[in-house]
Amino acid sequence: MATSSGSQSPASIARAAAAPNHLAETPAGATLASAICDRLRGEILAGRREPGAKIRLEALKAEFGVSWSPIREAVSRLVAEGLLLNDEQRGYRVAPASRAELAEVLRLRVLLETMALGAAIEQGDDAWEAELLAAHHRLAKLEDRRWDPADAERWETWHRTYHDALIRACNSPILLQFCHLLHDMNDRYRRLYLSAHAFDRDVAAEHREITAATLARDAPRARELLAAHIERTGHNILQSMQF
Ligand SMILES: [Zn+2]
Repeated sequence: MATSSGSQSPASIARAAAAPNHLAETPAGATLASAICDRLRGEILAGRREPGAKIRLEALKAEFGVSWSPIREAVSRLVAEGLLLNDEQRGYRVAPASRAELAEVLRLRVLLETMALGAAIEQGDDAWEAELLAAHHRLAKLEDRRWDPADAERWETWHRTYHDALIRACNSPILLQFCHLLHDMNDRYRRLYLSAHAFDRDVAAEHREITAATLARDAPRARELLAAHIERTGHNILQSMQF
């Protein structure tokens, strides 16, 4: 999976998933290989490249208009992160999705995010409360109105911002990095298997209750509600996986 070095850190994976995929917006100094790697990672995590899909290096080379070297470096990094597989006969493929992996991601998310939420409730200050309130308000406005499929990408962004805001004050950067990585992995499954479903109205009520318990500094209740939120959505994804 992800290593602790450079652009392969969980934080970079989280950033790549959140960032728009345009090579032209690559920050100065970032290498071409990093830009290609970030874009492919974003496409895999967003489900735009499906599990098991073949990665044709020739096509990538033509698409990006670059030499072989950055292409090879980019795919090697994604193999190291576990998002691509490489075997001699079949070449590069997007890592398959499995029920076992999702179940593990859900177990770890419940464990680590509820730990982070408990710490944030203990240590968060007024600025954190204000940030959480704002993040929830923006998400709730979107969730309360009549659902429009055109809002899906905006919901993805604001939903992520909200869940980040909940735990940001935990004062443990490494814990936050792991939470972001697991959230990305979970989102990949949700986008792959629930994107065709209607918006789940229970989600809005769950976000409201989690926010209220968190702002009331009721850590046991907030942790319980967050765990139930992660587990319920996860259960819906598992049910949609027909294998
Ligand atoms: Zn949520």
